[in-house]
Amino acid sequence: MQFFAPTRVYLEKDCVANHKNELLSYGSRAFIITGKHSSKANGSLDDVLSILDEASVPYLIYNDIEENPSVETVTKAAGIGKDFQADFVIGIGGGSPLDAAKAIALLMANPQEGAGCLYESKELTALPVVAIPTTCGTGSEVTPNAVLTRHAFKTKKSISHNIYPKLALVDGKYLSSASSNLIIHTAVDALAHCVESRLHTKANVYNHMFSEYGLALWSRLVPALTQLAGQKDKTPADLLSEEDREALMLASTVAGMAIAQTSTSLPHAISYEITYNQGVPHGMACGIFLAAYMDEYARNNAEDVNRVLSLLGFPSTDDLGAFLRKILGTVTITEAECDLYADKVMANASKLSTYPFAIDRDGIVRILTHSLEIR
Ligand code: NAP
Ligand code: FE
Repeated sequence: MQFFAPTRVYLEKDCVANHKNELLSYGSRAFIITGKHSSKANGSLDDVLSILDEASVPYLIYNDIEENPSVETVTKAAGIGKDFQADFVIGIGGGSPLDAAKAIALLMANPQEGAGCLYESKELTALPVVAIPTTCGTGSEVTPNAVLTRHAFKTKKSISHNIYPKLALVDGKYLSSASSNLIIHTAVDALAHCVESRLHTKANVYNHMFSEYGLALWSRLVPALTQLAGQKDKTPADLLSEEDREALMLASTVAGMAIAQTSTSLPHAISYEITYNQGVPHGMACGIFLAAYMDEYARNNAEDVNRVLSLLGFPSTDDLGAFLRKILGTVTITEAECDLYADKVMANASKLSTYPFAIDRDGIVRILTHSLEIR
């Protein structure tokens, strides 16, 4: 058994300002990686800039990170950061800018390597990364993963290198600007991390501490998420308290700590096809498969599935599935797409190995057809 979690995490209101000296200790020229709009709107970017300005630390902002960032985007950004001679990287935003920041930090530290090194198993180190999440799902601020879109393969995959941020500054106030759908989708991503990590080949006592705590915490978020889904005319700013936002962030980091020990499993593997081809947001694309994944798992080990259900407070996978459909909605694909996605998942040996039992193509098709509308 092993356990490794090297990121220093502060989860508190105003943690960026409170821990500015630590943030500044990671370098002397900062490359800031963020998305187009949200970090400006929710105050996270300004919080960082005021600290850098106050300390006269030179910085460059790259704000062109798209959702599900591509290999091409991180390669372009790394060239710009290298020209600027930045010596540390600050990722601000959802999982997309945080994952991009990790890949960019790797490419910047290894300019002799091309983008090809992202998916090669080689000993490479990255520049220090500071991660400031503004969504409540990926846990990227505490995981070693950086999921990129690989257009050449028409799918998404985490790079082959483990890049843990040195520092994670997690403040629920940045969720104030998020839409109901963004909160719901990303909270369901955190749920998927807890479920997949608990029902995983590498699950062990250490990761149970995180996945089981995360599941119990998530059960307390169910009423708030139900409210968000049922009152789309109201914003999360109206419906969520400061405590709710902090609990959403806590669930996300705890779930990240769980997958940092195990990785994710089949719902994530299938989700990459749904996101790439159907454009479904990441958390929704994972969440729609959870109940069917648990049904499949229960064919071999019903006890662990019942443990997950009891921590979540749902009597059955049918009830959990109905709840998730209610807050997420449904996704429709064609039969041909279903066949293609099943083939792609069956070709993904490393993800199949995260499932502790033998699973054949029929098993993957069952998960797909029980989760999606097929036309
Ligand atoms: P995201 O793709 O980072 O962001 C989605 C959208 O939300 C963007 O339009 C973004 O706008 C906006 N946004 C972000 N924070 C906001 C806020 N506080 N208020 C309003 N809008 C906000 O979404 P995500 O679900 O957090 O990340 C998904 C990515 O993470 C996927 O690529 C997924 O594969 C990856 N992931 C990584 C891990 C890991 O362990 N590393 C785990 C799970 C998933 P802007 O573009 O303007 O910022
Ligand atoms: Fe995820």
